[in-house]
Amino acid sequence: MTFNKVLDDVKTYEAGKPIELVVREYGVKPEDIIKLASNENPYGTSPKVVKKLKDVAKSAFVYPDDSMYELKEALAAKFKVDEANVIIGAGSDQVIEFCVHAKCDSNSKILMAKTTFAMYEIYGKQTGATILKTPSDEHNLDEFREIYKSQGADIIFLCLPNNPLGECLDAKNVYEFLDEVDENTLVVLDGAYQEFASYKDGAKAISPSDVIVKYPNVIYLGTFSKAYALGGMRVGYGIAQNDIIKNLYKLRPPFNITTPTLAGAIEALKDEEFVNDCIVKNFEQMKRYEQYADSKGFTYIPSYTNFITIYLDGYISKEVAQNLLERGVIVRDMTGYGFNAIRITIGTQEQNSKVFKILDLVL
Ligand SMILES: *Cc1c(COP(=O)(O)O)cnc(C)c1O
Repeated sequence: MTFNKVLDDVKTYEAGKPIELVVREYGVKPEDIIKLASNENPYGTSPKVVKKLKDVAKSAFVYPDDSMYELKEALAAKFKVDEANVIIGAGSDQVIEFCVHAKCDSNSKILMAKTTFAMYEIYGKQTGATILKTPSDEHNLDEFREIYKSQGADIIFLCLPNNPLGECLDAKNVYEFLDEVDENTLVVLDGAYQEFASYKDGAKAISPSDVIVKYPNVIYLGTFSKAYALGGMRVGYGIAQNDIIKNLYKLRPPFNITTPTLAGAIEALKDEEFVNDCIVKNFEQMKRYEQYADSKGFTYIPSYTNFITIYLDGYISKEVAQNLLERGVIVRDMTGYGFNAIRITIGTQEQNSKVFKILDLVL
């Protein structure tokens, strides 16, 4: 059978390994597995959200509220924008997909950093668009400017902070860059880890409401999968001027967000105390990884997220990751990105202590 030609060039997304697989392949007991490969919140689902999910189970037989009114209202209030400025997706991934399909075809160009979130390229290639990447792995706005000036772009992705490296541009520099971008270029500001970055350093904090008032061509994306601890529920959002939102809506499948997901997200927004507490602990625990790396003579990328990328000089990161996996610790090997490094999600105090012990053993 022949398929759409563009698919020849599309790679399948590789998720972090699930716990079930490590149990099956290496015989590690499920309770001994430490999953630090997908940047989930290690502190678990907030108890208030768990209660809410149980409450809505009895409504599972009716279709969800497709207007998503309550969640949109809650997000609009949180970000001080209008509901007409909000779109909800099955993960912010789905909003990225809408953005790409709303702007691109095989004549389009998409500009991004060399080493950034894999889905930008995957969705881009689904449309046959050309992917332009900066020479530097980390975001370098001068390189973005140079490529944009010489080749143009239909979409520019800025990941703030950047997954999988952890670095983050200053908001001031991002705004200066936005001033130079043509109104027909859609700029996607991916704020999947903004809660972490803005806590660590106010200079990194992007204000979605300021951005969309000033720039009709910019969309800000957020997710409930990371700080809000709802990765399994699949929910994220985009905030932009209504002209963008209206067009993205044309691509939305009906009932893309389930009833428990809507209820869980609304409840999670009410429990800011839980989220803040997780963020504080995240950076306390990240210090331990920095100290561990220092003690081994490893360098790392200072991180504004809930993960840290550590270079394993003197070792082969792929082997280290595999050895950790066999002992029940799931991390992400960065060989595929051209880095001899591993990316580790910052776990709980107890998880991290075990990781250091097992790392000592493996190294
Ligand atoms: C996790 C992540 C997302 C989206 O996650 P969803 O679970 O689809 O909401 C988007 N961008 C980056 C950079 C991420 O790391």
